[in-house]
Amino acid sequence: MSSAREIWEAALGELQLQVSKPNYDTWLRETTGISFQGDVFVVGVLNVFIAEWLTSRLHSLIRRTLTNIIGRVVDVQFVVCLPGQVDARPVATLQADGGTATKSKISVSAPRLKPGYTFDTFITGESNRLAYAAALEVAEEPGYRYNPLFIYGDTGTGKTHLLHAIGHAVKGKGHRVLLVSAEQFTNQFIIALKTNSIDDFHNKFRSADVLLVDDVQFLSGKGQTQECLLHIFNHLHDNNCQMVITCDHAPGAIASVTKKLKSRLEWGLITHIGAPDFETRLAILKLKTRQLNISAPLEVLQFLAAHFQHNVRELEGALNRVTTYAKLSGTEIDMGVTLEALSDIVKQENDRQVTLKPELIIDTVASHYGITPKALVGKRRDRKTALARQVAMYLLREQNCYGLAQIGKILGNRDHTTVLHGCEKIATEITTNPHLKESVEEIRKELAVEKLA
Ligand code: ADP
Ligand code: MG
Repeated sequence: MSSAREIWEAALGELQLQVSKPNYDTWLRETTGISFQGDVFVVGVLNVFIAEWLTSRLHSLIRRTLTNIIGRVVDVQFVVCLPGQVDARPVATLQADGGTATKSKISVSAPRLKPGYTFDTFITGESNRLAYAAALEVAEEPGYRYNPLFIYGDTGTGKTHLLHAIGHAVKGKGHRVLLVSAEQFTNQFIIALKTNSIDDFHNKFRSADVLLVDDVQFLSGKGQTQECLLHIFNHLHDNNCQMVITCDHAPGAIASVTKKLKSRLEWGLITHIGAPDFETRLAILKLKTRQLNISAPLEVLQFLAAHFQHNVRELEGALNRVTTYAKLSGTEIDMGVTLEALSDIVKQENDRQVTLKPELIIDTVASHYGITPKALVGKRRDRKTALARQVAMYLLREQNCYGLAQIGKILGNRDHTTVLHGCEKIATEITTNPHLKESVEEIRKELAVEKLA
């Protein structure tokens, strides 16, 4: 039989998958397996409050998890066990003796900076250029320019990535950086209140040169925590310490946040990250394939970029899924594997999405270039017509997700290799030719209007 410590390590591995990251970091990360005798498994925690929290919220999940690992039903007990302390006493004893444990220090760790989330792995495009530039400036001269820097946008648009990137950059310059999600801030605040260690809590946050707070919308409705953050804000601001905040809404639109805190959040620079455009999505995918050292045909990347439009996390998830699927089936990544791997998602998307008729795309492109739709699908090869035709190939691929052969057919029975060449040419040229990029954007906008009609 393995030791209590090993069993608990295994249980933590399971629990990490089942609770949110902030909860895991706050309540479970610093626990240890102490003993396992008879049917009782004893877990060491840092203070009474954590023990109480785990008992009231996670007891049955933990019990189930341990029972699965051990193979028979066990009971779980939490004991307070400070690091280095030899005799762990059960919580009940501590509560009865006048709350000795309330003096224990909070040593719940803040989230660490994620190694991959740096400025050089952040792809920029129209949607995030301003936020990126502001983040870079703040990282260069923290505390002077925009304080706080407030970055907001929908989920999966790269806010956390940028926040960590600032963290890495300023840490590299020797600043004391503290990164915390608002959820974790709240958890730690509650622990501090319950364990009479609010001074430690304040000191910890006030000692930062740079404070990074992720997902501040989590403080909605939590008046006391908001008040606490406000005090920390004032202190840091007075001392020219930089704060960077991320949120899913602009400060004015966060629900149930005090006016005072809102106005503080609006003091510096507010910058928005939108959904990435097609080229940005494609560039992100290309970067990810390089990072993961996988090779995927451009056609596949274009398909993914066309399908997953709003959320980079989903885009990455789709690439990972395709990669895993190909690996498991022992094949190279191609369109066939991609469609199979994503069949459920793609079907749902198709059901949801209003797809445009190919004729409409052809008409819109032709009219943008001042030629007739007939010419576009015809035999003419002058530069303007050829370009319009290739743009049509590219947009048909992007907007409708047709196969290459099908697009060839729609555009006057052309070969699929001609279509592939056209799509690739536009995909490459668009990154270096601003005029072309602008044209494609304009046509996309017109098509978007059609979609709504
Ligand atoms: P958010 O915090 O806005 O919900 P994240 O920062 O967690 O989004 O981003 C989700 C995933 O997408 C992360 O893996 C991140 O690295 C990646 N990502 C988002 N935007 C970009 C970008 N512009 N360049 C590279 N990767 C990005
Ligand atoms: Mg985030």
